[in-house]
Amino acid sequence: MLLDAGVARARLRLVDPHPQLLACWERNAARTGMTYLRSPGVHHIGLDPYELFRFAGRQYSRHTPHFKGVRRRPSLALFQAHARHVERQAGLSELHCQARVEGVSGSRGGPFRVETDRGSLATRRLILAPGSGEGTPVPSWARGAEHSGLPVHALFGEALPLEALVERAHRTGAPIGVVGGGISAGQFALSLLGRGCPVTLLMRHPFRVEELDADPGWVGPKELRAFHAVEDPAARRRMIQAARHRGSMPEEVVGRLRAAQGSEHFSLKEGAEVEGGRAAPGREGAWEVEVAGVPPVVVSSVVLATGVGCGRPPGEEWIGGFATELELPRAPCGYPVPDAALQWGEGLHLSGSLAELELGPVARNIVGARMAGTRLGPVARSLATRRAG
Ligand SMILES: Cc1cc2nc3c(=O)[nH]c(=O)nc-3n(C[C@H](O)[C@H](O)[C@H](O)COP(=O)(O)OP(=O)(O)OC[C@H]3O[C@@H](n4cnc5c(N)ncnc54)[C@H](O)[C@@H]3O)c2cc1C
Repeated sequence: MLLDAGVARARLRLVDPHPQLLACWERNAARTGMTYLRSPGVHHIGLDPYELFRFAGRQYSRHTPHFKGVRRRPSLALFQAHARHVERQAGLSELHCQARVEGVSGSRGGPFRVETDRGSLATRRLILAPGSGEGTPVPSWARGAEHSGLPVHALFGEALPLEALVERAHRTGAPIGVVGGGISAGQFALSLLGRGCPVTLLMRHPFRVEELDADPGWVGPKELRAFHAVEDPAARRRMIQAARHRGSMPEEVVGRLRAAQGSEHFSLKEGAEVEGGRAAPGREGAWEVEVAGVPPVVVSSVVLATGVGCGRPPGEEWIGGFATELELPRAPCGYPVPDAALQWGEGLHLSGSLAELELGPVARNIVGARMAGTRLGPVARSLATRRAG
C-alpha cells in the first residue's frame, strides 16, 4: 500500500526478525494443522479485494478446493501462494531488514532512532506493527507443573517437538492434553487425531460457536459508526471486548470435534479449568493434569493452545519507555490512542492490534491490516506528493 501510494522503495524498510517475511504467520498457521482460513476470500494481503479469486483461477488444484463455504474461505495453500506472489511482485523481500527491534528513541515529530539487535536505523516516519504477540504465554500453573517433569509446550512459540510428543503418546498410550477452547485448539486436536494420536481436549468453557472472530459489521460503518461516536477509550475497550468472540470456533470445526467424540482416541472435557500437573502414580511417562472439581486427567504431555498475547500491548518492552517519555496518549488498558490517521505522535503510526482503539475489534485480523492501509494510504500519498513537488 505504501509503495502503491508513491513511497519510494529506497525510503522504505520492513524490520522483522525472521529469515522471511510472513514467517511468524506461516509457522503458527502450520502448527494448528488448519487447511482453510477462518476469514473470507476478500481478506488477503493484496491491494484489490477480489484479486485472490482471480489468482485462484490461475492455480491448479487437484484435491483441495480453493474456497469453502458461503464466505468463500480460502485454503491455506492458496492464501500462502498468493501472499508469496504479492511479496514477489512488490519486491518486498528486498526491503526486508532482518532484525529485532529492541528500542525506539527520538523527540516528538522525529526523527526516530530504531535500535535493533543488528544495529540502528534512523527514520522520520515509523509504523509500529508488531502483531498481537509472537507466542502463547505460559500460565503460572504450567510453569509449576513443568517442575514435576510434565512436558508443557506452547502451540505458538519457537519450538514445538511435535513428532516427539506424538511418539510419546503412542508409546505410553496416554493422550496429548490440548488446553484451549478456541479454533486453534480445535484444529490442532483434529490434526493430531488425523495422525491417529490420542488427544484429550481440555476446554474451560462449553463450545462457543461463531463463524468469525467478530461480526462482519465491524469491518464497516454498521458497527464502527457507533464505536467512533464514543470518545472514551475505556468505553471503546469495553466495546471491543464485547464484540470479540474469544475462545470460539466455527460450526464446521465444532461438528468435526463432536463427531470425533465417538472415537477411542478422543476425549473432550468441557468446563475444565486446569490448575496444575504431577507425575501419574504407577505409570511411567504419564502425568496427571489437575482440573478444578473433577478427577485428574492422565496425559503424556500438554500443549497450550490458548492464543497469543498476554493482555498487555504487544511490544510494550521496547515501546513503553519511549511512549512514556514522549507522553503519547494511552488508554487505561495501556493501549495507544491514535488519531483517525492512526498517528500516535507526529510521524509515528500504528497498525494491527496496537491500532485497535481506532480500528475496532478486527484490527488484529487480516482485514484490520487492510483497514490500516486505507487510513495510512492518504498520509503516504500526501507525503510522496509533497516530496515530488
Ligand atoms: C493459527 C492462526 C490462524 C489465523 N487465522 C486467521 C484468519 O483466518 N483470518 C484472519 O483475518 N486472521 C487470522 N489470524 C490472525 C492473523 O495472524 C493476523 O490477522 C495477521 O497475522 C496480522 O498481521 P500483522 O502483520 O498485524 O501481525 P503478524 O502477522 O503477527 O506480524 C507481526 C510481525 O512483527 C514481528 N515483530 C514483533 N515484534 C518485533 C520486534 N520487536 N522487532 C521486529 N519485528 C517484530 C513478528 O515477528 C511478526 O513477524 C490467525 C492467527 C493464527 C495464529
